[in-house]
Amino acid sequence: MGPLTPHATEVFDEIKKQAAEMSVLMVDSDKYQVTGPRSQCVVNVKHKACACRKWDLTGMPCKHAVAAIWDMSRNSIDVGIPEEWVSDVYWLSTWKKVYDNVIEPINGLDMWTPS
Ligand SMILES: [Zn+2]
Repeated sequence: MGPLTPHATEVFDEIKKQAAEMSVLMVDSDKYQVTGPRSQCVVNVKHKACACRKWDLTGMPCKHAVAAIWDMSRNSIDVGIPEEWVSDVYWLSTWKKVYDNVIEPINGLDMWTPS
């Protein structure tokens, strides 16, 4: 079991598969030019943004971003695993927290027994 929800893990595994086909060129310490079979994008790791807009819109690093993150860790930059860059909303721990705070439903007034 990974840190993400089962659905997010499935989606992210597919992104990682595609990221493996990308080649990465470092522009500066925040920017990476990522080239794949059908696309070339500039990823700004500091702003968690990519030219394809998917990272900004979904909160989940796109294939370009994952390729850039891998490249950074290959260059001994401490970025952790790509999952750590995925927005909290996709994390199992976040969902557990949400459910912990669920308020017990109560029945309407007409269901209360008079005392
Ligand atoms: Zn992208």
